Amino acid sequence: MRIAVVGGGPGGLYFAALVKRIAPRHEVVLWEKGGVEDEVGFGVVFSDGALGGVQAADPRLFDVLGDRFVHWDAVDVRYRGETLSRGGYRFSAVERRALLHLLRERCAEVGVTVHFGTEAPPVPLLSEDFDVVVAADGVGSATRAARADAFGPDLRPSASRYLWMGTDRVFDALTFTVVETPHGTMQAHSYPYAPGWSTFIVETTDRVLAASGLDVPDRAPEATAAAVADLFADQLDGHRLVCAGSRWGRFTVVRNRRWVDGNVVLLGDAAHTTHFSVGSGTKLAMEDAVALAMALSDHGVPEGLAAYEAERMPVVAKTQHVAEVSRDWFERVDEHVGLPAADFAAHLVTRSGRIGRLDLPLVDHGHVERVRTWFSEALSGTG
Ligand SMILES: Cc1cc2nc3c(=O)[nH]c(=O)nc-3n(C[C@H](O)[C@H](O)[C@H](O)COP(=O)(O)OP(=O)(O)OC[C@H]3O[C@@H](n4cnc5c(N)ncnc54)[C@H](O)[C@@H]3O)c2cc1C
Repeated sequence: MRIAVVGGGPGGLYFAALVKRIAPRHEVVLWEKGGVEDEVGFGVVFSDGALGGVQAADPRLFDVLGDRFVHWDAVDVRYRGETLSRGGYRFSAVERRALLHLLRERCAEVGVTVHFGTEAPPVPLLSEDFDVVVAADGVGSATRAARADAFGPDLRPSASRYLWMGTDRVFDALTFTVVETPHGTMQAHSYPYAPGWSTFIVETTDRVLAASGLDVPDRAPEATAAAVADLFADQLDGHRLVCAGSRWGRFTVVRNRRWVDGNVVLLGDAAHTTHFSVGSGTKLAMEDAVALAMALSDHGVPEGLAAYEAERMPVVAKTQHVAEVSRDWFERVDEHVGLPAADFAAHLVTRSGRIGRLDLPLVDHGHVERVRTWFSEALSGTG
């Protein structure tokens, strides 16, 4: 089988490495338009603390990655000078760059052909030339846009804006900070992801951004980071924020009516997104990769593509629902600012009673065992 993969994010890379490992005779070619060192994004958090089937599909990868994970069990809410802490959770995080680096190494080890710094050929060409085309080209997927009639995308941009940054202030919990600036409310989502480093995502409305003068198009990203750091000075304890070139973005919820069109299939953010406040996007993209690799191996094309879509769509829909409730809550944070600290923290952690951590899909141990057994059987004999 000849397989083309458009996009070398966590979804595309993991799929390519898995499918080539299962069937070394397949030709697997991946295009990534960014260069090897171009990744944005600091850490990625995995909200239930376990990677479930993603880990079971390639335990050796996660043995290596394991040393890079940071683990913790608390959620802190910082509000009006108080810090309210709730324990009993399980979180882990890793540097996105480290994850991508190891996935690339894995692709090289198993013999995937990877073209970095190279835009993929047009999909009609790929679709003719390859048995399967996996569109793992992210939230702005051009593949999805080119075949909008077939995929039926539903794109909902958020009302708020975010800036994804890092800081050398080390947080020891998933920390939500609310700051009441002279221009309005701003909030930060932060968590540790590597020794000496935490992710720091600031979110606010267009109105606050315009009034605070933080969204000046020609301003250097590092100057913006410094201005944001001034607003969060109490939380950062004199530490700095770094942007690594990232700019104010608008989170977009992506859904599609279908994920398969002929031999072209959507995977990861191209198919679906979940708001960063529930930290599931990377895991979902990698779970898609596992499911697609298994389905193609079991059923071939086109049945495998249909099986993948049927398996993944309902699972993803559940997480997307939770994520959207969470996003809505953060977008309307002003409705809760003014509550006493304990009430505010309780609202935030349970998102007004509508979501709690138990609403996020939990690890399905039966599924994990099935993935583990499937991969160890598929790999016995391939070396
Ligand atoms: C602020 C923020 C914070 C987040 N935090 C978390 C978190 O804590 N935990 C978590 O799990 N998730 C998080 N996410 C989500 C996570 O980043 C995504 O869900 C994840 O990266 C999806 O992986 P992917 O492989 O589908 O797409 P991407 O990672 O977007 O990769 C797509 C790749 O395709 C490439 N590409 C696009 N078009 C082409 C083309 N024509 N030719 C070649 N290459 C192409 C792009 O360069 C890109 O590298 C966050 C997202 C945001 C915005």
